[in-house]
Amino acid sequence: MKENNLPMLAYCEIIKENAVLKKKNKELQRKNQKLKAQIKDLLNEVIYYKYTKKNHNKRPETKRISQKQYEAFRKQILERDDYRCQECGSKYRLQVHHIKSRREHPELIMDEDNCITLCITCHSKTDNFFTT
Ligand SMILES: [Zn+2]
Repeated sequence: MKENNLPMLAYCEIIKENAVLKKKNKELQRKNQKLKAQIKDLLNEVIYYKYTKKNHNKRPETKRISQKQYEAFRKQILERDDYRCQECGSKYRLQVHHIKSRREHPELIMDEDNCITLCITCHSKTDNFFTT
């Protein structure tokens, strides 16, 4: 090998190394995205178990409205909102949020204008999440 080819050789090595690093970087970014999605899902699970399951026994005052009636209404709201959280667009663990709480405004429990689809993460950030 001629001596004046050495810089060229070094240049090629660096270009090659750079390409490898770029590929690795892309892989890491993809992994990172995946992990971020997993974290979001898990966070949803954590909140779901922490709040929903625990409070499930003492269902609030929906006595006058039958479960069946409310389920139909709930479905109607979800359909209206295209089965997406109206805050962040998530399609995961959707709930119907009552803008005016069910406790304070039981008459608005089945009022379409008082209801909005939220994922449990966004729902948990609302003021009256614990009272609905
Ligand atoms: Zn959301």
